[in-house]
Amino acid sequence: MAQAHSTDLKVVRTVADLRAATLGWRLAEEKIALVPTMGALHQGHITLVQRALEAADHVVVSIFVNPTQFGPTEDLDRYPRDEEGDLEKLRQLGVELVWAPDKEAMYPEGFSTAVTAGSAARGLETDFRPHFFGGVATVVAKLFNQVRPDFATFGEKDYQQLIVVTQLARDLDMGLEILPVTTIREPDGLALSSRNAYLSEAERAVAPNLNQVLNEVANAVVAGASVPHLKAAAEMRLLTLGFTKVDYIEVRDAATLAPFNLDHKRPGRVLGAAWLGKTRLIDNVAVEV
Ligand code: AMP
Repeated sequence: MAQAHSTDLKVVRTVADLRAATLGWRLAEEKIALVPTMGALHQGHITLVQRALEAADHVVVSIFVNPTQFGPTEDLDRYPRDEEGDLEKLRQLGVELVWAPDKEAMYPEGFSTAVTAGSAARGLETDFRPHFFGGVATVVAKLFNQVRPDFATFGEKDYQQLIVVTQLARDLDMGLEILPVTTIREPDGLALSSRNAYLSEAERAVAPNLNQVLNEVANAVVAGASVPHLKAAAEMRLLTLGFTKVDYIEVRDAATLAPFNLDHKRPGRVLGAAWLGKTRLIDNVAVEV
């Protein structure tokens, strides 16, 4: 159900104001979809919003750069922020409500509880960003409790996060449906990301090779090539192409992220993370069996 296009965009910054803004919708038994973001919105986020608009009567977009999912040496301070630009984009889409808490509204004095992410959080990102999924699981659980949506949209771009959040919503009986959205890419295959803004011209030219190499791995997996051999060859190739470090290239079961086995005849996923100078890129592609 699409809502009427409107330029009436309300921004709330406290949980009390958020509750007041959504109470009428809930009492009227109208459906709410949440789109969690860290802002610096691009076409990937816009597609998440469009999916949410299709699914529900009302859409809430959250904008919060969550400090607990960044490690001490990561890019929290320089993470791109453009609230005015974001609000204008959301206004044009007809979004009614933006939930933009500051750090104190999200983590008030005395905050001390954490949610532990489930089995899907093992390995991959966690091997390199051990703090990440704890931060994500806790903030996502808070967002779900704050907004109490019927739906929430998440991008396949952050594939492990999508599976972790789907597991969290089910395991903790959050009472909402997670709607996955396909990865939106530049014409040359580079997945859109707020962090692409960090890339120099030379790095930007190398960046699409991550997607290219993941696709080659996916095709070779389907053709029956040995996975350990493919991973090693793909890492070498990325380094040769100009990536400065490869965190991982892995092939996993698409639904559970357990190790992939072609004989199981279940969809797989090739996931990768690699560095171009100070910028870390992640991407993933489907293995269609
Ligand atoms: P972020 O603001 O980077 O935390 O991302 C917020 C949401 O947008 C997450 O669910 C991401 O997976 C999703 N997202 C980010 N980039 C893309 C993309 N290129 N295509 C689809 N979804 C994306």
